[in-house]
Amino acid sequence: MKDLVPIIGLEIHIELKTQSKMFCRCDNNAAGKKPNTLVCPICLGHPGTLPYLNKEAVHYGLLLAQALNFQINQLSFFARKNYFYPDLPKGYQITQADTPLGSQGYLTIDDHEIAIERLHLEEDTGKLIHDSQSNCSLVDYNRAGTPLIELVTSPVITSATEARRFCQELQKILRYLNISNANMEQGEMRSEANISLQEKDSFDFVGPYLKVKPGHHLNNKVEVKNLNSFKALERAINYEIERQGQVLASGGAVVAETRGWNETKGITVSQRYKETVADYRYFGEPDLPPLYIDNTWLLEIKQELDKIELPAVKAKRWQKDYGWPADQADLLSTYPSSAMYSDELLTTIRQIAPGNYKEIARLAGNWLTSEVLKYCSLKDLLLNPITPRHLADLSIALANKTITSTNGQVVLQTIVKNTKVSVEEIIKQLDLQQVESSDQISKLVQKVIDQYPDQAAAYRAGKLALLQFFIGQVMHQSNGKANPKVVREILEKKLQ
Ligand SMILES: [Zn+2]
Repeated sequence: MKDLVPIIGLEIHIELKTQSKMFCRCDNNAAGKKPNTLVCPICLGHPGTLPYLNKEAVHYGLLLAQALNFQINQLSFFARKNYFYPDLPKGYQITQADTPLGSQGYLTIDDHEIAIERLHLEEDTGKLIHDSQSNCSLVDYNRAGTPLIELVTSPVITSATEARRFCQELQKILRYLNISNANMEQGEMRSEANISLQEKDSFDFVGPYLKVKPGHHLNNKVEVKNLNSFKALERAINYEIERQGQVLASGGAVVAETRGWNETKGITVSQRYKETVADYRYFGEPDLPPLYIDNTWLLEIKQELDKIELPAVKAKRWQKDYGWPADQADLLSTYPSSAMYSDELLTTIRQIAPGNYKEIARLAGNWLTSEVLKYCSLKDLLLNPITPRHLADLSIALANKTITSTNGQVVLQTIVKNTKVSVEEIIKQLDLQQVESSDQISKLVQKVIDQYPDQAAAYRAGKLALLQFFIGQVMHQSNGKANPKVVREILEKKLQ
């Protein structure tokens, strides 16, 4: 058995949050609406109706295309993809075939460029709802005609982790560009994975394309659907790598087919043999003119994009300018809200503590991820009562040893109850100022030792773990104000 390597490509559908649908003026926000209330003769495909293209959807397509380094095809065309299914009222889907809006883009993941073959615009189908109780299927056409972007990567992804990282980074970008909510669980971003195992020396990459070497053949690929979370995507790919490996090891051949991911059982299940392109009888959409993007529009898109700092660039800047660790910068750049909070925090720190802002920024980053996130979600960080200014002031107070970290937590608890009060006021009102004086601490230490003579004797007899008990007691009796380092030093001396 020769060495086999996984070859993975992704097809991703993205629902755009435009005002209206792709080819009619129906409301595109179906959340909470009754089934089949957002429909019109155009999106229901009545005979004699004509589609007209949504400019906002093209604008969003161009934004993403430029953000992902695509070559924009200034002249592109729409086509009909014909198939019969109950959720497709027209009997065909309007999409882009030979000439998509964007060709040959890429997204950088961990300093490695993942080539994306194409980006095209199309429309979504309706939704089928299978009701097992009444044993019937219902169809809701509210989603029929929702604008979609489809991205197709080259088969250059080599692991389940890399596939997940790609989707996560893409999701961040979609949210920063504010063109899609991109929740996988809600079907706003839907990924399908094409997976195969190939012998290591049987192929080459010519640019982003996989080319079989003379005298070799490629094993079939399998398409996996129903991947509605990052976890499902990663698990399904790993499952397929394992399954195909066993098929090939036992001398069998992998069947080219579409398989569905069963989350509960943790397996992929055969659904149908894959259609070929010919099955869809693509032909040019006769009811829509060619789409022409002029230079002025392209320039406007570029200027709009120049104002948006994309998540990877932002995270790198935080690492470089403020010394944030990579995983922390990556986490805090996840949502526009967490990114805006972090940016405001860092700018504030730099303004009010120009001398040692890096040290304070690192401390603030740690407090943000470990303490502030106990009170709110990362997604809604900007809405939380602890403002960037609060956290900046608190971090400075901690760095200057104005308060101990125990009382730092008291400050946070107080802010959560009343966001209007400043850190300085809380420290004053609650008398939280750290006690540094050795004399004061020394008296407190002696008091505690006198209170616990048995423990003191046990410590002196060698039970050194009791030191932590004494530190805890002194800290408690000082209301968290004693400098813990000084407490430890004096305790060690007095307990000798
Ligand atoms: Zn409509």
